[in-house]
Amino acid sequence: MADTKGLGKCAEHHVGSYGYPTRPGEAYPFCPQCGGRMVWSCTECDAGLPDDTTELATARFCRQCGADYFQGA
Ligand SMILES: [Zn+2]
Ligand SMILES: [Zn+2]
Repeated sequence: MADTKGLGKCAEHHVGSYGYPTRPGEAYPFCPQCGGRMVWSCTECDAGLPDDTTELATARFCRQCGADYFQGA
């Protein structure tokens, strides 16, 4: 992953981040709150998740292609 920081979430809408001062340096694969798989970008088109935290918390589908972020999760 080329990005040095980013935002992600799991299927239970637990928001996570990496690359920020108090956060892990790299994207991590599983949610620390529920053990679900973390999604850091769209699995279909690789678009980033919303950077607005309110939108990120509720987002489930990609804004660019409409894919379900958690399809098959
Ligand atoms: Zn979670
Ligand atoms: Zn997409």
